[in-house]
Amino acid sequence: MPKLFTEAKKRLREAAVHMKFDPDVLEMLKYPKETLAASLLIRMDDGSRRSFKAWRCRYNDTRGPTKGGIRFYPAVNFDEVMTLAFWMTFKCAVVNLPFGGAKGGVAVNANELSKAELERLSRAYVKAFNSFIGPDRDIPAPDMYTNDMVMGWMADEYSAIVNQPSPAVITGKPLALGGSLGRTDATGRGGYLVIKHLERDLKIEPENTRVVIQGFGNVGFHCACLLHADGYKICGLSDSKMAIYDPAGMDPHAVHEHKSKTGSLSGAPTNGQAKEISNAELLESDCDLLIPAALENQITHINAANIQARVICELANGPITPAGDRILNKSGKIVIPDILANAGGVIVSYFEWVQNKAGYYWTLDDIHSRLKERIEPETRTVWNISLEKNIDMRTAAYIHSLERICTAVTAHGTKTFFST
Ligand code: GLU
Repeated sequence: MPKLFTEAKKRLREAAVHMKFDPDVLEMLKYPKETLAASLLIRMDDGSRRSFKAWRCRYNDTRGPTKGGIRFYPAVNFDEVMTLAFWMTFKCAVVNLPFGGAKGGVAVNANELSKAELERLSRAYVKAFNSFIGPDRDIPAPDMYTNDMVMGWMADEYSAIVNQPSPAVITGKPLALGGSLGRTDATGRGGYLVIKHLERDLKIEPENTRVVIQGFGNVGFHCACLLHADGYKICGLSDSKMAIYDPAGMDPHAVHEHKSKTGSLSGAPTNGQAKEISNAELLESDCDLLIPAALENQITHINAANIQARVICELANGPITPAGDRILNKSGKIVIPDILANAGGVIVSYFEWVQNKAGYYWTLDDIHSRLKERIEPETRTVWNISLEKNIDMRTAAYIHSLERICTAVTAHGTKTFFST
């Protein structure tokens, strides 16, 4: 059994012990509903052809069409795609979106492709998976190393195949092609709103809170800017190559500008004297709030005991392993779990899909207030479950989410219904 997936299912079992429900539900969630693998053969700029491995997994669609991003990343594999689809199932349910979970991936280093090659690869993905995806079946979105432009090419390719504009097949598109206002910063904003909402419960005061963010991509950058504007002190940031740490703080906009100009975090302006350290050192650095916003498996049984932050907010998917979690929980750290903390992206994706279907577009204020209205009560519920049952927030989030999935499964009838 693949490793990441086996680990991910442990979370489900941990939540299940706190609940009473029909075994049908766990049976249904045991394996993905369907998975498709393909190779994408594209013409490179130099005239040669190259083939890339690609996958799409629809984990469960009991609560609606499946939803989840497509990542372009060299190390992507089937186990990872299936696990991410599993997480999407719980993420959509925890914030009550009428969606199931899915994910897609292509094993490619997108930075090594020219823009034209990237377009061919994006279109090839849709050619290979067009019968698998669809506006009422499975709706992709951006993920690591894919962006609005990639989504635009994919939506265009799909529309050409079905012979009519079909914007609702993909979310995270450019605004001019049916995208939604507020989608770009939605994941970072969602994380920010969750932290803000729990400030009092977590006994956090922005001006006394030193924040470290691992990953300075779209998610990490936007969350850093919102926290910074709110008075939080951003003390550490990293990209895939290195990290910078300055206890005197830094302005994420200035760091971003420096990185855009020079391609590196090295030498970025900060309030004092920044130290250049590794990503691993950054995670263990002195701070109050740690935000892993990069990859899976960053905090494990090896480094969990060295984490100094009191609160960890997971903006990446799966940055803490179950063994890492146990160590953090034992030492009294609070982890705000990925399926809640990074749900802002898929929430605004849902808004984009609704707007595409209705053909009526909302203002940025609408998006911001609807995102807040949706994520805050779910955060409160998860927090309350964790207090009532005296359990960590992740288990509470899985319980909350599993309850919704159970209700949907039970509505079709279970063993109890059919055998009495
Ligand atoms: N890739 C994002 C995630 O992991 C967004 C998914 C979506 O918008 O469908 O949540």
